[in-house]
Amino acid sequence: SLQSKTALVTGSTSGIGLAIARALAQHGANVVINGFGKPDAIEKERAGIEAEFHVRAQYSAADMTKPEEIAAMVAEAEREFGAVDILVNNAGIQYVSAIEEFPVEKWDQIIAINLSSAFHTMRAAIPGMKQRGWGRIINTASAHSLVASPYKSAYVAAKHGIAGLTKTAALELATHKITVNCISPGYVWTPLVEAQIPDTMKARGLTKEQVIDDVLLKAQPTKEFVTVEQVAAIAVFLCSEAASQITGINMPVDGGWTAQ
Ligand code: NAD
Repeated sequence: SLQSKTALVTGSTSGIGLAIARALAQHGANVVINGFGKPDAIEKERAGIEAEFHVRAQYSAADMTKPEEIAAMVAEAEREFGAVDILVNNAGIQYVSAIEEFPVEKWDQIIAINLSSAFHTMRAAIPGMKQRGWGRIINTASAHSLVASPYKSAYVAAKHGIAGLTKTAALELATHKITVNCISPGYVWTPLVEAQIPDTMKARGLTKEQVIDDVLLKAQPTKEFVTVEQVAAIAVFLCSEAASQITGINMPVDGGWTAQ
């Protein structure tokens, strides 16, 4: 049980992050959720977690492109709950374009959200974890931390980066009872995937059905999307005592994609 633990999950107003926050709460953790969205929808999710799982849930609107907001989010969580025991770096965005047309500001934004934000959260949360002698850091990487696809230069670079950051942090924290791992999903049906279909249609000159079958699920031998609950279950496992000797790994949950 994760009772008496506090989990901070970035990018958890939607998709995988929301499923991870809910699963950690189901196992007894207080949670800080974060991300963008309509205020009433976010409040509904937050209050729903408290009512359903009998834990405390807070919301932080911190923007993962802003280092000072990230530091303040961690400090606020520690003030409110006394600790950040579990840190899940999950916020992420995608942009699909050929390199020579890739907007510079999109490159910078993706590196900031998908990679640098994890450095900033870790930098803020590690001292408390060290002091308490327990911690779990889980980064949502991607199959794109292990292999590439065309037209996703910033995303693939950021995800390969987070895999390296994960290993480095695991080594630095190995004697402190703090594990650091990443989970690498293949295609999960979330707003992030749905939103890239029109651009992929344009970039490759395909119909929606062709993008789903010939681009997305083509990479995935099971020919099925991964579910957010399946990713969340791995996060819960990595937080358990059974996983205390698992550190520095990159666990694919990808229907066999990266076996090829
Ligand atoms: P999603 O779009 O459903 O969720 C993304 C979350 O990040 C949302 O809560 C959003 O508000 C938040 N976010 C975006 N920009 C932010 C910012 N600047 N500051 C704070 N929060 C911000 O997407 P998802 O598919 O659930 O993706 C979650 C993570 O999983 C991402 O890191 C993504 O790269 C990774 N991933 C997704 C898939 C997939 O197929 N969906 C596959 C592999 C990895």
